[in-house]
Amino acid sequence: MKPDDFLPRPDQVKTFATQPHATPLYLTSVWECESPAQADAMLGGQEPGYVYQRDGHPNGAALAAKLNELEQAPHGMVVASGMAAISVPLLATVAQGEHVVTASRVYGKTLQLLNAEASRLGISLTVVDTNDLAAVAAAMNEKTKLVIAETIANPLLQVADIAALAEITHRGGARLLVDNTFASPLVCKPLELGADIVMESLTKTLNGHSDVLLGYLGCRTDIWPRVKQVVSAWGFSASPFDCWLAARGLATAHLRLERACSNALRAAEFLSQRREVERVEYPGLAVHPQHAIAKRQFVGPTGPQFGTMVAFQLKGGRAAADKFITAAKDIPFCPSLGELSTTLSHPETTSHRGLTPEGRAALGITGGTIRLSVGTETPEFVCSSLATALMQT
Ligand SMILES: *Cc1c(COP(=O)(O)O)cnc(C)c1O
Repeated sequence: MKPDDFLPRPDQVKTFATQPHATPLYLTSVWECESPAQADAMLGGQEPGYVYQRDGHPNGAALAAKLNELEQAPHGMVVASGMAAISVPLLATVAQGEHVVTASRVYGKTLQLLNAEASRLGISLTVVDTNDLAAVAAAMNEKTKLVIAETIANPLLQVADIAALAEITHRGGARLLVDNTFASPLVCKPLELGADIVMESLTKTLNGHSDVLLGYLGCRTDIWPRVKQVVSAWGFSASPFDCWLAARGLATAHLRLERACSNALRAAEFLSQRREVERVEYPGLAVHPQHAIAKRQFVGPTGPQFGTMVAFQLKGGRAAADKFITAAKDIPFCPSLGELSTTLSHPETTSHRGLTPEGRAALGITGGTIRLSVGTETPEFVCSSLATALMQT
């Protein structure tokens, strides 16, 4: 035996007489090319195919293709996390000396990215209430390249008027990036409403099984070459295994979402009638300040769905929240969302703990604020679990 016989060589099984029914997992960092001309054409993007995993792989492409269809996105890519899917458009569209406008109600890490990281690259920032359209227009200047908003904002679930924001953004010569994580493309399709870039944290509802960290961004044709370049050069690429798992989660997302959205509406109506509860926030309730916008923008199999997130304020404040969370044995305190089961979070001590008490008060968050991510159980189970916990407050 020659020493080289011990080198690990892949089995050269390239084709089968029958095709696999489930998507195979392609764990290969590099592909064997037939010729320099082929490698050149693939790396240059003139020919489809794979050369190196950081530039693309079949599991990422299969997942992105499904998401592109759901989002009505001409182009899209799966990246390592939701935060990567926000970093990529930032790096792809904004340069040193330029300016970003962001909604004040965005994911905490998004604000940190813009405040602490983008500022180091010489990118300036204005934070506004994006439900105040005049304030958004006033915040824009000739250096503004990107406006960022969430379809449904954390934690009090204000709904952005995406078409109006897109109009203001485009009038100012900038692009609109919409974080659609709280809605998902099964509830809202921001690109159809005029946004230029949409992102999803696949970690949440779209994968839906609490086992993957992954992000997606979809965009229009003009910035697609920059997006591909940024993902490959900065190394934001997603792993094939995570994409494979998320594709499996995505296959049932429409069923999970339909159940969870109808449960969320039931839970919101139930909570609205409880004397322990001061206020309920859910875009599907007629009293929600942006209910009309939500009805116009949101979609579903039989009319608009309003998402799986419900927030409410307990009358007894922080003391009542502590008792509620301890008593809610069937609703785990998990500071994330979009799991199979109903979970709850306490914004004051988790997602918004980095803000001052005044900063939280300005967003409407108190010690008694509870954020529910409603799951796929039966509606009776969700409401009776809430009732049991409310009785202890
Ligand atoms: C979780 C989340 C993100 C970040 O996604 P990761 O996958 O955790 O990086 C961004 N925006 C919203 C609204 C989120 O809920």
